[in-house]
Amino acid sequence: MSEVRKIYSVQKSRTTMEGAGVRLKRAFGQAHQKLDPFLLLDDFGSDNPDDYLAGFPWHPHRGIETITYMLHGEVLHEDSMGNSGTIQSGDVQWMTAGSGIVHQELPARTAGTFAGFQLWANLPAAHKMMDPRYRDIKKTDIPTVTIDDFIEIKVICGEVQGIKGPVQDIITDPEYLDISMNHFSTLKHPIKNTHNAFAYVIEGEGYFDEKQKIGNENLVIFESGDEIQVNTENSKLRFLLISGKPLEEPVAWSGPIVMNTQEELRIAFEEYRNDTFVKKQ
Ligand code: FE
Repeated sequence: MSEVRKIYSVQKSRTTMEGAGVRLKRAFGQAHQKLDPFLLLDDFGSDNPDDYLAGFPWHPHRGIETITYMLHGEVLHEDSMGNSGTIQSGDVQWMTAGSGIVHQELPARTAGTFAGFQLWANLPAAHKMMDPRYRDIKKTDIPTVTIDDFIEIKVICGEVQGIKGPVQDIITDPEYLDISMNHFSTLKHPIKNTHNAFAYVIEGEGYFDEKQKIGNENLVIFESGDEIQVNTENSKLRFLLISGKPLEEPVAWSGPIVMNTQEELRIAFEEYRNDTFVKKQ
């Protein structure tokens, strides 16, 4: 018998200032046993350009992956490996900082709502100093699986009904899905029972267990189990569903750098000051 995951906790995202003065909604931003290997999820949704235009000028990352998913609007980026370009509506940038990358992420002025997310996934000790890599995934490369005309799932990473997402070979074996459900629909989706899983509601409302109706900008953290069950009644529901294999390692975290020990953090910031941070151009 497969075990349906129960809800561990529900929390509303909180307004936070980041970068050069970006006002964003933070779904979570700390190491937590039930969220491991994920460290942070920021929601950039805003109708006001003053909230996002300042962006994130040049800054380093080491020891993590940053995953940016844009729903509406665009972000210009460039980095110390010589990559540059635009993440546009529907695109994903999966950046593995590894041993170190210095980059900037600058949102462009957008008519209407600027909407997007950045997720941070931790890297295990054995891979924190891996060579950085960078994947640009275009909207058109992300498959959509439709179930019974009621449910649409964009598969960024992971697998739904045999359809695999374009991002593969990631160490923490993550799944990243963007799920839209119509009124009065039911979704059952298997998740490996070794993995931690959470959902973040981005539109409408629905039920992630039998009891409580959960609305926009709420983070739902699940207990362990083999599958999740989600239901809607008279509202539609759209949410991100993300899962991954926990690392269960010590976390030493300061700003954009996440290592295992305070000494590794100290070295990282010293190297950044001395201009020896980037190991691979
Ligand atoms: Fe960054």
